[in-house]
Amino acid sequence: MRLKRDGRRMADTKSGRDKQARDAERRQIQRDISEARERGDELEPTPDPPTECHRRGCSEPVAFSVTERYQEETGAGAVEATAFLCVDHTAVESPMNLDDAYEGYVFHVEPVAAGDGN
Ligand SMILES: [Zn+2]
Repeated sequence: MRLKRDGRRMADTKSGRDKQARDAERRQIQRDISEARERGDELEPTPDPPTECHRRGCSEPVAFSVTERYQEETGAGAVEATAFLCVDHTAVESPMNLDDAYEGYVFHVEPVAAGDGN
């Protein structure tokens, strides 16, 4: 719910209403900040890299992480999707969201160190 000050109502019970409006504005600002912070956290996933290929039914060891960053169509902002894949599945991977590409669009393949526990 978004509270807006209505200029036409200025006449009645002024001071109490002004204070309420100020408090509401302050709460709204604090809520905006915390929401922005939550969204920021979502952009930093820190999953343990899996050891098996992400593709269903494939149990080959992970060789690459494939990351695509694109603009979500709802306008909610940039989305980053990462899949950990074996060599074969990385080779057939390709950009999926070119329709949602923007200036910060990224399609990125990065080798993953062999899972020797180190
Ligand atoms: Zn695979």
